[in-house]
Amino acid sequence: MVILDLNIKTIDTDVLIIGGGTAGCFSALTIAENSNLQVVIVDKANIKRSGCLAAGVNALNAYIGKGETPESFVEYVKKDSEGVIREDLVYTIAKRLNKVTKKLEDLGLPILKDENGEYIQRGKRSIKINGENIKPILAEAIVDKDTINILNNVNIIDYLVESGEVKGAIGFSINENTIYEIYAKKTICATGGAAGLYKPNNPTFSKHKMWYSPFNTGAGYAMGIRGGAEMTSYEMRFIALRCKDTIAPTGTIAQGIKIVQVNSQGEEYVKKYGKPTTHIRLYATVMENLKGNGPCFLKTEGISSEEERELFKAYLNMAPAQTLKWLERNTGPLSKNVEIEGTEPYIVGGHTASGYWVDRDRKTTLQNLYAIGDVAGGSPKKYVTGCLAEGEIAAMSIIATIGDSEFDKLSEIEKNEKIDYISKFFHNDKSLYSIKDVEEAMQKAMDEYAGGISMAYRYNKTKLRIAAERIEELLSIADNLKANNLRQLLSIFEVIDRLYVCKVLIRHLEAREETRWRCYQENTDYPQKDNENWNKYVNSVYKDGKVQIIFRGLVGRDKIYEHTN
Ligand SMILES: Cc1cc2nc3c(=O)[nH]c(=O)nc-3n(C[C@H](O)[C@H](O)[C@H](O)COP(=O)(O)OP(=O)(O)OC[C@H]3O[C@@H](n4cnc5c(N)ncnc54)[C@H](O)[C@@H]3O)c2cc1C
Repeated sequence: MVILDLNIKTIDTDVLIIGGGTAGCFSALTIAENSNLQVVIVDKANIKRSGCLAAGVNALNAYIGKGETPESFVEYVKKDSEGVIREDLVYTIAKRLNKVTKKLEDLGLPILKDENGEYIQRGKRSIKINGENIKPILAEAIVDKDTINILNNVNIIDYLVESGEVKGAIGFSINENTIYEIYAKKTICATGGAAGLYKPNNPTFSKHKMWYSPFNTGAGYAMGIRGGAEMTSYEMRFIALRCKDTIAPTGTIAQGIKIVQVNSQGEEYVKKYGKPTTHIRLYATVMENLKGNGPCFLKTEGISSEEERELFKAYLNMAPAQTLKWLERNTGPLSKNVEIEGTEPYIVGGHTASGYWVDRDRKTTLQNLYAIGDVAGGSPKKYVTGCLAEGEIAAMSIIATIGDSEFDKLSEIEKNEKIDYISKFFHNDKSLYSIKDVEEAMQKAMDEYAGGISMAYRYNKTKLRIAAERIEELLSIADNLKANNLRQLLSIFEVIDRLYVCKVLIRHLEAREETRWRCYQENTDYPQKDNENWNKYVNSVYKDGKVQIIFRGLVGRDKIYEHTN
C-alpha cells in the first residue's frame, strides 16, 4: 500500500490569488504596481504557460472599436445573451477594455496596426494580435516583482472558511510531498471555468483535444459551492462552434474574412433560425444536421491565396492543429470548405454568464473572497481583456479596503479535517473503480441525461433527475478512490470538483422552465422563451448537501447591486 507522508507548510500573506492565469496574473500586477501588499499567487501548473492562454490567441475579442462605446458594448452583450446579463458588471468591464489593452501592448504584446498606426479591427469589438506569446508576456510582468511570491504546481482544493468568512486556502504540491496552508486577509479566485464535465467530441487519446483548457476543471466553482457562495446562471452553458475534429475557432475565418455557413446543398442556412447571435449560429448547425442537411461548412472555397496564407498563420498562433491538418492533407481553405461542429458544453463565465454571484467590485457573497475572469458570473463575452479588467477592479478594491485587516486562522479541528481529507486518498483501500472510470461515467451521464452532444444538447426534467442520481452515486464512489501518487491525487480532486459543478449545473438546468439560449439551455419540457416569467437570474447556494435555488431580478447598467438582498 502506498501512503505518502505529507509535510505541512503554512504561509501568511496579504492577498492570495488562486489561479495564475489571465485574470490572476493581471490582478497581481495591478496590486504590485499600486501598493506594497504581499501577494501569493498559486497555480496548479506553471504560470508561464497555464490556462486558456497556454497555446496563444490571435485576437482580443472585447475591445471598444471605432464608432462603439461602453454603452453600445453592453447593448451588444445583452442582445446576444437574450437579455439576461448583469449589465452593471458588463459596463464596469466595458469602461476599462481599451485601457487594459494598451497596458498589454506596453507589456510587449504585438497588436497589429494599419498604415495610420491604428489597431487593425477584426470586427466591431475585436482586434488582431500576434498572441502566441501572450501568456509568457503576462507571466514575465510579475515574476520579478518583490512583493509577489509565485507557487507553481500547487493545486488548491478548498478555501479555509469559517462562518462564511474566507481566511485563505489549502492545497498540495504536485511535485513534493507538501500540503500548503495559506492564510490571507483577502483571497481572489481566478481558476477559470470547467471543462471535462461532458463527453467530449473526440475519443480515447484525443479526448483532451477540446475547446476549453482541459486543465481548468472547475476547482474555483467547486470550492465556492462547498463553501456556501452564491452562484449564478450555470444553466447558461457555453458550447463552441468549431472546426470539426481540430476544435479550432471558427471566428478566425467567419469574422476574420467574412465567410458564411452553408449546408451540404450549399445553402446559407443560419438566417432560417433567427438573428445570427452566437448561440443561433450553433443551433442552426445542429438543426441542419438533425434534418439531414449536414454536414455544415464555413464556405471558404474561392478565397484568395493571400487570405489562405493569413489563415495558415492565424491558426498557427492559437490552434496549430488546424494548419497542420491542412498541410498534412495537402489541402487548404481555398480549395475545400471547412467542416464545423458544436463542442460539448462547458461552464465558463468569460463566454457566457455562469459563475460566482459578485458585486461591482467582484466581491463574492463569502466575506474576503473575490472572483474574477471565467470563474465569475453575470457578464458574458469578457474574453481576455474583460478578464484583465476584472483583475484590475478586484485589485483596486482590495487596495482600497484591506486597511489593517488581521489574519484570522482556522481552528485546529477544522484545519486538521482538511489535512486528513487530502491524505485520506492515500489510505483508502484499493477502490473497485479507477479515476478514469469515474470520469467517463460522469461524462456519459451528463451527455445522455443533461443535454450533451449525443442528445443535440436537449434535456428534460425526467432525464435531469436521472443525471442527478448518477452524479450523486459517483460522488460517493469518488470519495473512496485510491491515490498512489501525487498525480493521481490531483486527478481525484479534479473529478470530485467536476462532480460538484455537475450537481449544481443539473439543478440550474431544471430550475429554468423555458428555453432561453438555444443549445446552451434547451429544455424540451419548455421549448420556448418566456420573457414574462423568466427575465431573471437563476442563482443557487449549496447548503447541507442540497442545491437551493434563488431567483433574482435583473440588474440594470447603472443599478448598484452590492449584496444587499
Ligand atoms: C481555446 C480558447 C481560445 C480563446 N481565444 C480567445 C481569443 O482569441 N480572444 C479572446 O479575447 N479571448 C479568447 N479566449 C477567452 C480567454 O482566453 C479566456 O476568457 C481567459 O483567458 C480566461 O482567463 P482566466 O484568468 O479566467 O482563466 P485562465 O487564464 O484559464 O486561468 C486559470 C488558471 O487557474 C489555474 N488553476 C485552475 N485550477 C486551479 C487550482 N485548483 N489550483 C491552482 N490553480 C488552478 C490554471 O492552471 C490557470 O492558470 C479563448 C479561450 C479559449 C479556451
